[in-house]
Amino acid sequence: MQDDIRAELIKQFPADVVEVTQQEGTKYYACPTCKRPVALGDSKCEFCGQVLRWEQIRQEEERSVGVRTATLTFEVAGDFVSGDCRKCPLSYISKLNEESVYQCPLNMRANCTLEIS
Ligand SMILES: [Zn+2]
Repeated sequence: MQDDIRAELIKQFPADVVEVTQQEGTKYYACPTCKRPVALGDSKCEFCGQVLRWEQIRQEEERSVGVRTATLTFEVAGDFVSGDCRKCPLSYISKLNEESVYQCPLNMRANCTLEIS
């Protein structure tokens, strides 16, 4: 079976509407397949044709768009201080004007923001 036909068939099975809570707290109902807003009580998503079910509305937080923050915890030597690329396990060596230098994969170098605890 072709994937697009299969996808159309799957949309004939009712799927639970999602109630999305936006970051500022407002809520709206959304199609579980294409995530676009639907009106309360709609039997079908007007965008993708997904058949909707309203008996068990799923709650979802809206994912923020843009930049998020990742945190990584790793071990460093006891005498490591932030900015000391030579001792940092993240650094790598590359050639700059025939000289080997320690490079920071996050481009922090002297502006290192690692927090040591
Ligand atoms: Zn849809």
